[in-house]
Amino acid sequence: MTLPRTLTAQTTDLVGQTVKLQGWVHTKRDHGKLTFIDLRDRSGLVQCVGFKLMSELTTESVVSVVGTVQARPEHLVNPNLSTGTVEISVNEYEVLNSCEELPIQIKEEENSVDESVRLKYRYLDLRREKLHNNLQLRSDFMAALRAALATHQFTEIETPLLTKSTKEGARDFLVPSRFQPGKFYALPQSPQQYKQLLMTAGFERYFQFARCVRDEDLRADRGFEFTQLDLEMSFVSQLEAMSLMEDIIISAVEAVGGQLKEKPFPVYKYQDAIQQFGDDKFDLRTPEEKEKGILAFAWVVDFPFFKKVDPKDQAEVRDSKSGWTFTHNPFSSPQPDFLEDHLAHQNIDQILASQYDLVCNGFEVGGGSIRAHLPEVLQATFEIMGYSPAEIEVNIGHMLTAFKLGTPPHGGIAFGLDRLVMLLSKENSIKETIAFPMTSTGRTAVMLAPAEVEPEQLKELGLQVVQQK
Ligand code: ASP
Repeated sequence: MTLPRTLTAQTTDLVGQTVKLQGWVHTKRDHGKLTFIDLRDRSGLVQCVGFKLMSELTTESVVSVVGTVQARPEHLVNPNLSTGTVEISVNEYEVLNSCEELPIQIKEEENSVDESVRLKYRYLDLRREKLHNNLQLRSDFMAALRAALATHQFTEIETPLLTKSTKEGARDFLVPSRFQPGKFYALPQSPQQYKQLLMTAGFERYFQFARCVRDEDLRADRGFEFTQLDLEMSFVSQLEAMSLMEDIIISAVEAVGGQLKEKPFPVYKYQDAIQQFGDDKFDLRTPEEKEKGILAFAWVVDFPFFKKVDPKDQAEVRDSKSGWTFTHNPFSSPQPDFLEDHLAHQNIDQILASQYDLVCNGFEVGGGSIRAHLPEVLQATFEIMGYSPAEIEVNIGHMLTAFKLGTPPHGGIAFGLDRLVMLLSKENSIKETIAFPMTSTGRTAVMLAPAEVEPEQLKELGLQVVQQK
């Protein structure tokens, strides 16, 4: 078989020609001496017919077939298939990988299959049209975001995965160091500090599709890791930043066919949102708009900077020494009207942050702020949280140093990519938009982690596992 491969979608233009197709046996029907298969590849399906051929094929096997493209007679045209005007008369075929009995059926609705089985065989689950389309949409949306960001002169920059434990409101995932036993890296809860340092470095406009890891209590729809479109820019006011971010979201959402309820996006004050909707994540759609999958974005602003620590939240308890903690992000700036109070540590409960959240259809899909870029402002935030000078030095000394070496005023945001794709694909769970999501008990898909490791590995790291009582 020296023929080059043809995709099934191309066959309609190749009537009369001999082609080689390669893909999966989507369906098979035996009619005595004739065997029909629908061959599936990344471009779609085409019907192939074998005379005394292919009867031993099993569905989902991978095959290579060589055959002639034939126009179907009028009455046999299948209007439901984009290649329904043709079929392939198979001359020869080869099994490239035969498929044994399937643990889950590819054509069945996935809801009928237990989640743990779906995730154990996620590569089969992903063969399903719906998940396939979701991941394609995710890729298209990311490409549209990249294109919009490039128009606005953003530079894509990666930041480290192995980094230092930071105060960002959740428990860190720790990684032991082999070279310095007893010391630990932390996986990033977000690239917050690195992206701010890129502003000090003079990039002015940065973005990255950042993997973030937070050891939070799991909910049905949340794993430990997620992807953010993270961005930061210099020399912008809060309104300018929000308007630029909104442009980027609108252009990427529309590029992949998303329909918006309203633009520009309405802006709600936090207090008004709470009064009107009882929540700062609200859904502005009418029932008809919900039916149609319309996206109703809105901004929420004027959040309080600080709140009293929730004694049940261990990360909050650990992050605060005074009983006050930040509501969103300790690196935010107070709004200019509250700067004096902030620096003087007074009227703490009244201070509003330069924070803006983006909500859509009842979900928070983004959050960001104009940052403290003067050392005394960031220092005051940590003082209000009760940090001693020594604790401040250990936690944010490097940021305070950078803020004394020419850091421009700046602000940014992180959008939850998984959630945005969930809303665009009209799914109810972010798991339907992630290739290999976790189970709700924190187990990884296909390869079961967390898992035990060799005693040798622990020894190298200077670690000992003790049974918890
Ligand atoms: N780093 C923040 C977060 O991950 C977002 C931001 O303020 O840019 O929630």
